[in-house]
Amino acid sequence: MLGNFYYSNPTKLYFGEDALQNLEAELQKYGDTVQLIYGGGSIKKSGLYDQIIEILIACGKTIVEDGGVMPNPTIKKVYDGCQKAKENDVDLLLAVGGGSVCDYAKAVSVSTWCEEDPWDKYYLRMEDVDNRIIPVGCVLTMVGTGSEMNGGSVITNHEQKLKIGHVFGDNVFPKFAILNPKLTYTLPKWQMVSGIYDIMNHITEQYFSGDDDNTTDYIAEGLMRSLIHSSRIAVKDPENYEARSNIMWTATWALNTLLDMGKTTDWMVHMIGQSIGAYTDATHGMTLSAVSIPYYRAICPYGLQKFKRFAMNVWDVNPEGKTDEEIADEGLKAMESWMRELGLVMNIRELGVTEDMLPGIVKGTFILDGGYKVLTEDEIMEILKESM
Ligand code: NAP
Ligand code: FE
Repeated sequence: MLGNFYYSNPTKLYFGEDALQNLEAELQKYGDTVQLIYGGGSIKKSGLYDQIIEILIACGKTIVEDGGVMPNPTIKKVYDGCQKAKENDVDLLLAVGGGSVCDYAKAVSVSTWCEEDPWDKYYLRMEDVDNRIIPVGCVLTMVGTGSEMNGGSVITNHEQKLKIGHVFGDNVFPKFAILNPKLTYTLPKWQMVSGIYDIMNHITEQYFSGDDDNTTDYIAEGLMRSLIHSSRIAVKDPENYEARSNIMWTATWALNTLLDMGKTTDWMVHMIGQSIGAYTDATHGMTLSAVSIPYYRAICPYGLQKFKRFAMNVWDVNPEGKTDEEIADEGLKAMESWMRELGLVMNIRELGVTEDMLPGIVKGTFILDGGYKVLTEDEIMEILKESM
């Protein structure tokens, strides 16, 4: 049964090859000073940086440069970004890049005018935002996180060996997001497939929870089928617009709050993956792929009916003459073989995890209770060992 919920998504989204044409009109809605946030240089290489600068100049904006946002952005970088935003009293944070750039922009948005240490307040204590927020706009270049249309912001603190996501309220969602699938063509295959698995895992994290009959789960199954279909085309033919655009749109719907309306959610693969990320700084989607199969095998007996449904409705497993356990197992095998077909990392050793890190990774994993089994620390250790 659907629980109580309220649904609102304030992000205005422009999609398609011509999407960037809408940037100018959006920029007119904000004040003169724009902090231009981007990553390590991919947008300079692709020529997008020049295009954006031209548009900002045409709009008469004062540009505050804030490049060099690293994958898995750090709190140290956030402090620097806040200082820039404060000194220049910026009116808009324009994030041009992937999830890291977008997450970082949201962190600067809520932290610049925060009077306490934002790491303590927003990431450790998870408090609601009660200070001035700087609006964020986004031009997306990497597909996976859904950060373009949600309140999520994942920040890493290397000193404390913690990587934590805060899901902020809809006042922190990007005000607008520009999605042109062609801007993602320059992504290396490693990043493309990592993003594809991030999408898949966002869906399964919300799907594998609860045993009620829920509309949202049927939507999730459709999104997974579309993703599996398009990903198989995109790995062979990365410039297939149909496939790349479908993947981009699926990523947005996978994590723009729709899929958790009225239902419980799991998120333990992300919790384990983020703790691995705090120790290794590994690519987000790969931290998820590397632990997923051992994790889902471990919880499958506790959510057997849902895993059976997953096998039949997502992977077309024929149930005839098979036990529920056999059907569920065939579904997980089909997912594993799709993951290998994409070329995902399937063990954490390959990400730089060594045995001595395991106790710390267990300690840094936040244990949530929405999935089919509330894990103990020993069980997390078992899953990590299985993932080595
Ligand atoms: P990313 O870290 O933003 O980008 C990964 C790499 O891809 C960077 O090196 C970047 O290079 C490069 N890149 C981006 N666009 C490119 C393009 N068009 N062509 C060539 N290279 C390109 O990747 P992401 O997976 O989108 O974001 C990961 C972060 O988001 C992690 O910290 C993760 O924990 C977090 N996350 C957030 C949410 C959420 O809800 N907000 C959900 C899941 C994960 P440059 O730096 O040079 O641009
Ligand atoms: Fe993710």
